[in-house]
Amino acid sequence: MISLSRRHLFTGAAGLVATTALPRITLAQAPAPAPAAPAPAAAEGPFKLPPLPYATNALEPHIDARTMEIHHDKHHGAYVANMNNFAKTAPQLGQTPVETILANLVNLPDGIRVGVRNNLGGHANHTMFWEIMGPNGGQPEGEVLAAIDRDLGGLEKMKAAFNTAGAGQFGSGWVFVTVTKDGKLAIEATPNQDTPLMYGKRVLLGNDVWEHAYYLNYQNRRADYLKAWWNVVNWQKIGERYAAAKAGTLTL
Ligand code: MN
Repeated sequence: MISLSRRHLFTGAAGLVATTALPRITLAQAPAPAPAAPAPAAAEGPFKLPPLPYATNALEPHIDARTMEIHHDKHHGAYVANMNNFAKTAPQLGQTPVETILANLVNLPDGIRVGVRNNLGGHANHTMFWEIMGPNGGQPEGEVLAAIDRDLGGLEKMKAAFNTAGAGQFGSGWVFVTVTKDGKLAIEATPNQDTPLMYGKRVLLGNDVWEHAYYLNYQNRRADYLKAWWNVVNWQKIGERYAAAKAGTLTL
C-alpha cells in the first residue's frame, strides 16, 4: 500500500489548508469565519487514500478530470475516512491485511460488519481500479494474453462478455476479471462494493459501474462508458498483476 503525505491529502480539500497557509491572502479575500469544517475526506488513521498514479486529466476524453477528482478524492476518500472511524473502536482493522479482513467478515462484530463490507470493499476496489488504468496502456501480451485466449475466448470476446456483465449489473456495482493462482480467468459482476476478495479470490482487473464513475460525461449511458473504458486500461500493469497472481503475491 502506498502511503500518502498530509500535504497531498489536503490539496483537494476545498483549498482550506492551502488558504490558511498562504501569507499573501488579504482579509477581503479570506472566507468569512465558518463553523467548524467537516473533517477532511481521509481522516487520520491506519487507512490511507493512495494517490492517483497519473494526473486527473490523464484519461481524457474517456474519463474526464472532474469525474476522476470527485471519484478519487471524495468517494474513495470517504471509504477511507469511514474505515479510519471504524478502526477507532476496532483497532485490529488497522493491523490486518485488507484482503484478510474481507475474506473473514464473519469474524467481525455485528455492529460494524456491514460497514466494513461496504467501505473496505470500496477501498480495495478503488485501489485496484486506479492502478489498472492509465494513458497509453498498450495491449495485452504474453502470458495474460494467452490466458485471455484460453479462458475467455480472446480479447474481443472478453470485452464483450465483460461489458454485458457490467451493463447487466442492476444498480451500483462492479464487473471484474478474476484470476486464480493457476492463472485461470473468469468474469464476475458484484453489487455495491462487494469484491471477489470476500470469497478468497483475486482480481485481475475491474470496472466501476456505479453512476458516480461515469454520470457527468455519460449520464445514463453505462454501455458507452463500458465500451470507452477499455481505452484507458493499463495492460502493462495488468500483466504484472497476472504474474503476481500466479506467484501468490497479488493482494488487492
Ligand atoms: Mn467508485
